[in-house]
Amino acid sequence: MSVKEIFDTMDYGPAPESAKEALAWLEARGGIAGPFVNGAWGELRADMESRNPATGERLAGLTKCTADEVAAAVKAARKAQPAWEKLGGHGRAKVLYAIARGMQKQSRLLAVMESLDNGKPIRESRDIDVPLAIRHFYHHAGAAQLFESEMPGRAPHGVCGQIIPWNFPLLMLAWKIAPALAAGNTVVLKPAEYTSLSAMVFAEICQEAGVPPGVINLVTGDGETGAALVAAKVDKIAFTGSTEVGRKIREATAGRGIPLTLELGGKSPYIVFDDADIDSAIEGLVDAIWFNQGQVCCAGSRLLVHEAIADDFHERLKRRMDGLRIGDPLDKCIDVGAVVDPVQLSAIKEMVEGNTAGETYHAACPLPSTGAFYPPTLITGLAPSDRLMQEEIFGPVLVSTTFRTPAEAVELADNTRYGLAATLWTENVNLALDLAPKLAAGVIWVNATNLFDAAAPFGGIRESGFGREGGPEGMRAYTKPAKLAAAPKAPVAYEGDGAPAGGIDRTAKLYIGGKQARPDGGYSKAVHGPKGALLGHASLANRKDVRNAVEAMNAAKGWGKTTGHLRAQILYYLAENLSARAEEFAARIDALQGGHKGAAEVEASIRRLFTYGAWADRYDGRAAGVPIRGVALAMKAPTGNIAALAPAATPLLGALSLIAPAMAMGSRVTLVASEAFPLAATDFYQVLETSDVPAGVVNILTGSHAELAPALASHMDVDALWSFSEPGLAAGIERASAGNLKRTWIGARDFSGPDGEGEDFLEAATEVKTIWIPYGEG
Ligand code: NDP
Repeated sequence: MSVKEIFDTMDYGPAPESAKEALAWLEARGGIAGPFVNGAWGELRADMESRNPATGERLAGLTKCTADEVAAAVKAARKAQPAWEKLGGHGRAKVLYAIARGMQKQSRLLAVMESLDNGKPIRESRDIDVPLAIRHFYHHAGAAQLFESEMPGRAPHGVCGQIIPWNFPLLMLAWKIAPALAAGNTVVLKPAEYTSLSAMVFAEICQEAGVPPGVINLVTGDGETGAALVAAKVDKIAFTGSTEVGRKIREATAGRGIPLTLELGGKSPYIVFDDADIDSAIEGLVDAIWFNQGQVCCAGSRLLVHEAIADDFHERLKRRMDGLRIGDPLDKCIDVGAVVDPVQLSAIKEMVEGNTAGETYHAACPLPSTGAFYPPTLITGLAPSDRLMQEEIFGPVLVSTTFRTPAEAVELADNTRYGLAATLWTENVNLALDLAPKLAAGVIWVNATNLFDAAAPFGGIRESGFGREGGPEGMRAYTKPAKLAAAPKAPVAYEGDGAPAGGIDRTAKLYIGGKQARPDGGYSKAVHGPKGALLGHASLANRKDVRNAVEAMNAAKGWGKTTGHLRAQILYYLAENLSARAEEFAARIDALQGGHKGAAEVEASIRRLFTYGAWADRYDGRAAGVPIRGVALAMKAPTGNIAALAPAATPLLGALSLIAPAMAMGSRVTLVASEAFPLAATDFYQVLETSDVPAGVVNILTGSHAELAPALASHMDVDALWSFSEPGLAAGIERASAGNLKRTWIGARDFSGPDGEGEDFLEAATEVKTIWIPYGEG
């Protein structure tokens, strides 16, 4: 194109980035991507191949690691772990820093390799993926440096298995590896089959950076290799990918006692109010849904636009879409590149073209004649229940609908099984800050979109998974308590046929929705003391009682909106009322368990209620130190509806140690009382009734844990399940929890000591919600 032609047309000329260096790099290494284990390349076999989606050309062969190869990698990681941990925070910080420096030196190669392999525009890989990945290593070099001082009492898990998808290959690798290493873990990571090449460059950077052999191991392959890694003897699994595979991993790890974090799909709303800066909102939308061809878990893929401006907004948006440039990812003037693979292209086509409702608009920009390209697309006029409004398309396709009021916007936004991100555009800061906490999502962007940083937690709720990556929250997920006192041995219920103690036989009911309720099944069980005396009867709750308790929790959602001050007052009031009846409770505990420890347990219970009264207005969020002009508020929001199975021992203290943190943080709770000694918790009904606890905030069931646990774990309206009951229940709970991907916590604690309270409990009772608010005009 001549200079005159450029002036005449004002069109972009080509600005190609050369692929030469990257292709030569691959060729010099035999043209095969394969396992990197114990600091060296493993056997490289071209079992599969990696192709450039923009051209269809073969880039490299790819080794499909077998289960044995995966096991060897885990073994290498296991061997390397103690020394890596022992190196200490400063020693690890130096290595992480060296990796960051090495990545900076190879940033061009990394960016070109990423664009060749994934099809993303070089503009994005060069300016977003690679710098953010490097930032992650810098930030976590700092996390390692401060590990001992900032995370006292925490220790690494050991060997972490990590599985990442193809949409941000290098960035996801950084998100997984940097915090794990900072905390003293070693890792075995599986890149996605379509995109393993930047991980190969990374492996070489690690060699040069002096990462000790075995600390970082990579196993290439497909889903079977991933499944082999899940099945291997690792101490933690961290996964990013589809909800479907996340669910399989939840089921595969059930009962193994290893922690899991899942970062899954989304169908994130992008909400535009009539007072928004429309041009900015449209530019934001380009980033929300056409960044990385829409293959972004938190893509703003559901446009909700105020009815009053909808027609104008859609027209302006179409004009902007027509101006997008789609083509060679290595051209620096390209906005939209290739989708990752022809298989993904077919999946997008099948979803969009199989849709008959709504009106589909494809951008009028020319498409390359070869390669996996799909035009930027807008579909308007769909019903909220339409498949395309509900399901992740994972391509450059935006669906749109309208709303009339802020309340309707929130209702539509939350009408999804996902809860990853949401974007709000309005010039009214009051409206934005009113709505942000109401949206069911882990990340909210106000007048901006797709902002990420190593210092700001990222992750979802509902079927978008659980756990956070980034910031101290992300670090904590790679640690566990360094030492826990052994939990007391679970006592069994006493048998007997003695007469009622005191002469009157009483049957404790259930406590649901602020009232004592008869069990649906009409059954109860005798409770005996150690010498066989009949102490009373406890109701046997069933599935219907579970349903009623969950409905009561749903009706008490207002609790989450109360102030910490109010919740503190109620917790103190509970303590005061328990204190007034301390002797009676102590006597009951002694009658149930024998011995004379009742008074001490009641005293510890009063203290525990005070502890969480203290935390209620003190477990703060923070403003994360992100490198933008603005703030990223990492707020603590209530987890929601929590079901908790109480330990058998310390029946009053154990119950209150689970109820109180949930209450303090604004969550609602359904507690299943100690199976062996339920009457200590049922006596507490009257304390609840006289302490201003709103109906439904605390519900207490009694009965068989083995029967109630699956009902609670599979209930779609239970957001988290904590079990301090029989360890044998764990597998069933975790498997059943895969339905709505609820958070689970299988614990065993000595509740009479310091391990029975504190940050682990507060963290479990909250979700971190990161709200990004950039500053400035224009
Ligand atoms: P997957 O969830 O299938 O893949 C993610 C990772 O898990 C890949 O490394 C994959 O291997 C691996 N994997 C696949 N099956 C298993 C298994 N049974 N056990 C362990 N690991 C496994 O996502 P895809 O890449 O196939 O994409 C499918 C859909 O997932 C997309 O259309 C999109 O909707 C969604 N997705 C969501 C992402 C997100 O960030 N939330 C990211 C990517 C995809 P391999 O790729 O080698 O087969």
